[in-house]
Amino acid sequence: MSNEVGLGVCAKLGLSHTSMPEPDEVGLCRTCRHSRIVPAPRSTFYLCERSFIDPRFLKYPPLPVIRCVGFEPLPPAVNEPETEE
Ligand code: SF4
Repeated sequence: MSNEVGLGVCAKLGLSHTSMPEPDEVGLCRTCRHSRIVPAPRSTFYLCERSFIDPRFLKYPPLPVIRCVGFEPLPPAVNEPETEE
């Protein structure tokens, strides 16, 4: 079942404190500029900062988020080398 913003309930990843979620467990929130990682002793949460200003977004969207109208990719890393063509 895919997760879309505005549907479902808060998600909590059942991960040990020593592991981070795999990419497919998080989906778009992993690379979205509006997400904030909230570490907890036994879980990792992805908070959607769009939820503060737009009621369509859940504070903690069910993961993985497969489609999201609010997704905006993170800007390139400062030290990331430019691709030459
Ligand atoms: S806008 Fe969408 S993709 Fe971005 S953090 Fe919120 S729920 Fe995740």
